[in-house]
Amino acid sequence: MIVDLRSDTLTKPTKKMLQAMMIAEVGDDVFGEDPTINALQDKMASMFGMEAALFVPSGTMANQIAIKVHTKPGDEVICDQLSHIYNYEGGGIAFNSGASVRLLQGDRGIFTAEQVKAAIQGNDSHLAQSRLVVIENTVNKGGGSIWSLEKIKKIKTVCVEHGLKLHLDGARLFNALVENGEETFDYGKIFDSISICLSKGFGTPIGSVIIGDKAFIQQAHRYRKIFGGGMRQAGFVAAAGIYALDNHLPMLKRDNDNAKLMSEWLKDTSNVTGIMPVESNIVIFNLDPKITTSIFLEKLEEKGILAYPFGPTSIRFVSHLDISDEQMKHLEKSLKSLE
Ligand SMILES: *Cc1c(COP(=O)(O)O)cnc(C)c1O
Repeated sequence: MIVDLRSDTLTKPTKKMLQAMMIAEVGDDVFGEDPTINALQDKMASMFGMEAALFVPSGTMANQIAIKVHTKPGDEVICDQLSHIYNYEGGGIAFNSGASVRLLQGDRGIFTAEQVKAAIQGNDSHLAQSRLVVIENTVNKGGGSIWSLEKIKKIKTVCVEHGLKLHLDGARLFNALVENGEETFDYGKIFDSISICLSKGFGTPIGSVIIGDKAFIQQAHRYRKIFGGGMRQAGFVAAAGIYALDNHLPMLKRDNDNAKLMSEWLKDTSNVTGIMPVESNIVIFNLDPKITTSIFLEKLEEKGILAYPFGPTSIRFVSHLDISDEQMKHLEKSLKSLE
């Protein structure tokens, strides 16, 4: 039995999802004429109580477009040192937007309003001008840590005081929302733009959505074209997104609960020395330095368990839609018998 915990992007579309895709009505989306994409965009915008949304091929493109709209070359983006936009988007902030970055040292990716305030650079011709703050929720590299709305609101206040825009990299936002019971509307009220991945916990094959006001989305639409992300009859793919929002959203809680089970089992697994607190569907754990990540990964692989190296002595498990109860049982047994 294979239990693939490398990422929640590994899910394959279910039969029912494929059926929904097959019967989608489509049109040319560059002309704005794909009814299924329009329906997905409207659905997402209204979920968040925001004016408009835009379907894009990837989460990276969603974030990069948002950064591009909010900044000019020479501006500065404030984000956490662990953030995906900084670490895992190929230096895209510099490449696409010509902006510089000021990194904050948060707690597992979660920083404070005071830290933002201290990092802001104003109107001095020597300095890069702070223009945008980016929050990630949940924080991938923070072990799936979850922000509280209260902290976000305090940061919003600082942003308003200093004329900064606020973007949410909400690749896994819904893993946070099903956990803490907060509402999409609360997020829609605070952020200038939000990106959501449909190909993570939702289990669709392709796609992300950016949400914002009409003026923002109009600009985003232009940059999507320039970045090469204008698609034609992509409603076949958007149909998977609509299907997932209707059917897979409640299942995210199961992913979070499974991750908690995994962390319980890891406590008794040999060579595991520490586990980051598990708040959503990601488990990052540390190994005894005597055993290297690659040896530990090999031991796991012998039992059919695939995981992702997350540093010289740490490993990441991600729970997702395609992990069955039988696979969970196999994982429990395997971790307990690991030497
Ligand atoms: C996955 C992810 C993205 C988008 O990555 P893609 O590979 O482009 O889908 C953005 N932010 C975070 C936090 C992510 O985990």
